[in-house]
Amino acid sequence: MNADPYAWIEKSLDTIRRAHWYRSPQSIESSPGPVVELAGRRLINFASNDYLGLAGDDRLIQAAIAATKEFGTGATGSRLLSGHRDLHRELELAIANLKQTEDALVFSSGYLANLGAIVSVVGKRDLILSDKYNHSSLKNGAALSGATALEYSHCNLEDLTVKLEQNRARYRKCLIITDSVFSMDGDLCPLPQLLALAGKFNCMVLVDEAHATGVFGASGAGCAEHFGCTGTPLMQVGTLSKALGSLGGYVAGSAALIDFLRNRAASWIYTTALTPADAAAALEAVRIVQQEPERRVRLRQNIETFKYCAITNHQLPITNSLSPIFSLPLKDAAAALIGGSKLKEMGIFAAAIRPPTVSVSRIRISLMATHELAHLEQLVEALEQVLSFD
Ligand code: PMP
Repeated sequence: MNADPYAWIEKSLDTIRRAHWYRSPQSIESSPGPVVELAGRRLINFASNDYLGLAGDDRLIQAAIAATKEFGTGATGSRLLSGHRDLHRELELAIANLKQTEDALVFSSGYLANLGAIVSVVGKRDLILSDKYNHSSLKNGAALSGATALEYSHCNLEDLTVKLEQNRARYRKCLIITDSVFSMDGDLCPLPQLLALAGKFNCMVLVDEAHATGVFGASGAGCAEHFGCTGTPLMQVGTLSKALGSLGGYVAGSAALIDFLRNRAASWIYTTALTPADAAAALEAVRIVQQEPERRVRLRQNIETFKYCAITNHQLPITNSLSPIFSLPLKDAAAALIGGSKLKEMGIFAAAIRPPTVSVSRIRISLMATHELAHLEQLVEALEQVLSFD
């Protein structure tokens, strides 16, 4: 028998291409910022998670260089073997200080932090309730945990209540998992009400602050701070790779939770520690987030200006949120692709997001503190033109 056991891969790729779901990375040829170079052209960048403009900040770059010179390029082992440096612990204590939690644990990415935390705190006899629009890392963490995972309608606490009433009593532990800022629409989870519900049904809560850290709250701690929920028992997960401009993830919470994760979370125990460069850059970023609230003020001004121009003045059908993330829904995947390339022709770089990432294809826009008024005006004009093609 000479059948090719891998032949199905090309067939699957064909199916993906026919559905306009095929994706491949595009290379940015300049340093990060509000304007980037892509395929030899300068484009205004609305596709970045670098909300505070820190990824290209010289202070982060110098911190990464100094740490590399002192400790080398790689951590050489996992944290429990040879990979631990004082720098990692310093970063964890800085994150705990930002989040006002007892402790924190740094992972190699936000994705691994979510997997590690979820899989460690629930198992086969437990229940997970997960917002339908949660990030892939939360969904995959739930699947990997072996717990019974049920989805509730997006930000719908009535549906969550019904599901708790129907199911909670049959399970030992229950974990509610949610993004705080949803990554595709930019809307916020109703955290205080969700925490009250969790208290009533004796559930743990894990909130993913990936898009909120550095952006929300007076000191940039995230939505927990924005909503005044700091101090409530809560597992806060996040990333060092968005507003913090580096790479890595974290869990922040009680000292007991962090101690437990250090002994249980496979995605922390069995992987190489964060590089000294990433840890040092993130540590510098946490300091800047706390000491330079003006960056958040500028971001908020850009959010308000964009909404005023796009929604109030031009009545564009974009999602209306408090966060820097906006979406322009389009009729299908092909329209999103065409929209994305038209925007490029008009000097704008914004992500065309299609299934399977989202059910409704769209142009996703993310704003940065470093965008200027002219950038926002050019974006609104270009979006209006894209709509005229749709
Ligand atoms: N959670 C959310 C909501 C995210 O958007 C992302 C990144 N796209 C992650 C987690 C994963 O973070 P990281 O990129 O650090 O793995």
